[in-house]
Amino acid sequence: MYRLSFITRQLASLTTASRQIQQTRKMHIKAIKMRWLTGGVNYSYLLSTQDKTKSWLIDPAEALEVFSALKTEELTSVDAVVNTHHHYDHSGGNGAMVSRLTEIKGSDVQVICGSHNSPGATQIPKHLQEYTLGDLKIRCIRTPCHTQDSVCYYVRDPNTGEKAIFTGDTLFIAGCGRFFEGTGEEMDVALNRRILDGVGEANWSSTKVYPGHEYTKSNVKFVRDAVYKKVGDNSALDMLENYCKKNEVTTGVFTLRDELEYNPFMRLDDPTVRDAVNDAQGSCTRAQVTDRLRELKNKM
Ligand SMILES: [Zn+2]
Repeated sequence: MYRLSFITRQLASLTTASRQIQQTRKMHIKAIKMRWLTGGVNYSYLLSTQDKTKSWLIDPAEALEVFSALKTEELTSVDAVVNTHHHYDHSGGNGAMVSRLTEIKGSDVQVICGSHNSPGATQIPKHLQEYTLGDLKIRCIRTPCHTQDSVCYYVRDPNTGEKAIFTGDTLFIAGCGRFFEGTGEEMDVALNRRILDGVGEANWSSTKVYPGHEYTKSNVKFVRDAVYKKVGDNSALDMLENYCKKNEVTTGVFTLRDELEYNPFMRLDDPTVRDAVNDAQGSCTRAQVTDRLRELKNKM
């Protein structure tokens, strides 16, 4: 009798444990490497709800690489193909992905992106427009500069408090994208007003950054060569540098708060950053500092 009640108690606690695991199960983000063998080092991302029944497929530019990385149930969960901007290495797979996904699912797949320059666009979100994906809340933050149609997608899971932002070629870890269709002033606004305000200060330290490329190593080299030249000048950069030595993949590891610690494009008023762009007096505008930093990086 004692033994039976012991087993019953054990079973009850096991059930409680499995319930707890279910309660803490999180939204899923699967990073898919694309164009790594040809030097593009792009990422596509599958963002899925806790129960994995609904997903967004972000920037699936290389359809073959994306298809081979996803299981059938992951493909059937995709509600929308989503682009961070129209460049071919982000949007070039839209047509192939949508026709195959429509076939597999037997229903429509939306294409959410910043403009009709992305193939097959069906929805163009406004700045700060919100979407719901299952339990997930997604805020579209328009960040024109790299392209005029650049959009960052900020996602939060109200059940777990987990947060992430997909930044395309606007914000990279320890860097930012080139200003192909915009100015230094626009990049300053994109990074330091639109992204930071769109996420909200209370969430900066819990929001993981998922950029469009794995450029962290070369960005760290630039920041080390041009700005914080010695170990000890910026302890956050030292930490990131060490991480890069040991890890090839850095996406989804660092937060917006981390960026504020080591990313010079988000530290425009730091005297060391001003020194790096020959503005020891601090007389340049933030836009000028952004432009000068970008010029230095372009020459690297
Ligand atoms: Zn781009």
